[in-house]
Amino acid sequence: MLEAWHFIRPDSVLALENPLVKKVLPRYVKVVKNELPAKFQIAKRIAFDFDKSLSEEEMWKEHSKLMKKFYEIKEVIDKGKLEIKDLEKPRYSLLDLKIMLTKEILKSCELCERKCHAKRLEGEKGECKVGRESLISSENIHLGEEAHITPSHTIFFMGCNFHCVYCQNYTISQWLEEGYLVTPKELAKIMEKRREQGCRNVNFVGGEPTPNLLNILESLKYCEANVPVIWNSNFYMSEKSMEILDGIVDLYLPDFKYGNDKCASRLSKVKNYFKVVSRNHLIASNQAEVTVRHLVLPNHVECCSKPVLEWIAKNIRDKCIVNVMDQYRPEFRAFEYNDINRRITKEEFEEVLKVANKLKINYIT
Ligand code: SF4
Repeated sequence: MLEAWHFIRPDSVLALENPLVKKVLPRYVKVVKNELPAKFQIAKRIAFDFDKSLSEEEMWKEHSKLMKKFYEIKEVIDKGKLEIKDLEKPRYSLLDLKIMLTKEILKSCELCERKCHAKRLEGEKGECKVGRESLISSENIHLGEEAHITPSHTIFFMGCNFHCVYCQNYTISQWLEEGYLVTPKELAKIMEKRREQGCRNVNFVGGEPTPNLLNILESLKYCEANVPVIWNSNFYMSEKSMEILDGIVDLYLPDFKYGNDKCASRLSKVKNYFKVVSRNHLIASNQAEVTVRHLVLPNHVECCSKPVLEWIAKNIRDKCIVNVMDQYRPEFRAFEYNDINRRITKEEFEEVLKVANKLKINYIT
């Protein structure tokens, strides 16, 4: 049956049959088509012997053990030798353990590499201004994402650990809106409804999903839908957060914006950008499938676009699709920065594509 999005995004209709998408993102495609279970549904079926007296160190040990089991079972499922419906749902699962670990981290928050150590469980707020609860700005069926992702159930969480001076969602990331509270159970119901309505995935974004990890995991605990999880992020997560996301995320959708720390510090107010974000790209490409987003910034082709593409070509070229994006427009405080106070030129974009071609990167635009 034809739906409205078929007319609005005709390129999405056959996007899952695109040979590049099938080659680089094979598992994601199968989960979208309900031919395989989403990873969080497998995690919910790995039994955890609940013990609330475990120390954090013991919890991490248990986590490593259960992740081994997760990968063994996933492999059997992916080979078609076992179906998820044949696995019982234990009282406590690997997902519960991940929730417990996230609560431990939130006692002195280091979910992201800011590591502000805010006592989030007590309501204290760090750099991202997210406290104990997660608030959302909106959720909707998004028709503007990459063709293989659209239609996407996009959930915009309030707050961000970055302060990009050109942020297009600055009312959300910098808290110029109030946001509203949705409980994990309510969010799970919404996710189930959106999947029934034809969304190909649930897409956690913001702001930034990382400060909202606890709420996201708790929502997935209650979600019965088989829906691939997309982590749409600036990729400044800590290594602990990356470990927790292993076995949860089906498709990472990271931004790789800057080719050096100086531009990152000036335009997004973060330190140590390149080391953290490149590290997380490596981890992500070993854990799951990846579609990298590189937004071309005016006057940043040499210092940012080229080094980012070179790093991708050297380290994860065959493991990802790269969306080279030309839609930058000056927003928020961009007018205070001369170099980025305009759209990119045709020549700048063509130069970046020339480099992507030369490096044989799997890119889309
Ligand atoms: S998620 Fe927020 S509170 Fe936690 S370390 Fe990052 S910026 Fe700080």
